[in-house]
Amino acid sequence: MKIRFLGTGTSQGIPIIGCDCPVCTSDDSRDQRLRCAVLLKINEQNLVIDVGPDFRQQMLRAKVAHLDGILLTHEHNDHVVGLDDVRPFNFRSGKDMPIYARLSVQNDIKRRFPYVFSDNPYPGAPSVVFRDIEVDTSFQIGGTTIIPIEALHGQLPVFGFRIGNFTYLTDIKTISDQELEKLMGTELLVVNALHKKEHHSHLNLSQALAFIEKINPTRAYLTHISHKMGLHQEVEETLPANVFIAYDNLEIDFLI
Ligand SMILES: [Zn+2]
Ligand SMILES: [Zn+2]
Ligand SMILES: [Zn+2]
Repeated sequence: MKIRFLGTGTSQGIPIIGCDCPVCTSDDSRDQRLRCAVLLKINEQNLVIDVGPDFRQQMLRAKVAHLDGILLTHEHNDHVVGLDDVRPFNFRSGKDMPIYARLSVQNDIKRRFPYVFSDNPYPGAPSVVFRDIEVDTSFQIGGTTIIPIEALHGQLPVFGFRIGNFTYLTDIKTISDQELEKLMGTELLVVNALHKKEHHSHLNLSQALAFIEKINPTRAYLTHISHKMGLHQEVEETLPANVFIAYDNLEIDFLI
């Protein structure tokens, strides 16, 4: 499996429009972050987790010519609003785009994109097909088993995904002991860390580090980063040896 970070920024991205802080004006390309998403290449299959506002740019930047499915963590704007841009994939393949999401997320998407789901869709509208995800039910895509992990994002349930010993979690704040159990044995862990201060719906840096310590993976990468976290280089130097800050376009080969 190849994991490529398409975006590692929080909902406004970095730089933030009009912000002249040291992070938003940094020359280090690792400080420039599109909205949070990841591309998984498993054998010949391409899957993405989340389709935020930068989806089109991310697909172009990663030169993705075909896409076999989209997994959604939750319904927030920065994770779903790029959905209209699946059209080129529809046109090339002549097929509906499978979207793996829980029912509440599917319903939210139907409200956000009514033209996609009307009985008489506008010619050229995206064509998607939902596949349900439920807690405690693993599912298969092209022979790859994916285990959903439920966590809470403030009050909102979100899904992370475990594939072999790789786990991707974003926009989490708390997790039950039962779900935590599903993470044990993870060797490569991606988890969100917003910034250093407390936040009501995201892990901050110290909470993310405590969480990583519990799971004890070989390597962990932080994502969904705010400009308030500080400069990539400076913050990364303060982290434990097995913890890194993810950055856009970072690619990791991992045997699942
Ligand atoms: Zn988010
Ligand atoms: Zn800034
Ligand atoms: Zn969110």
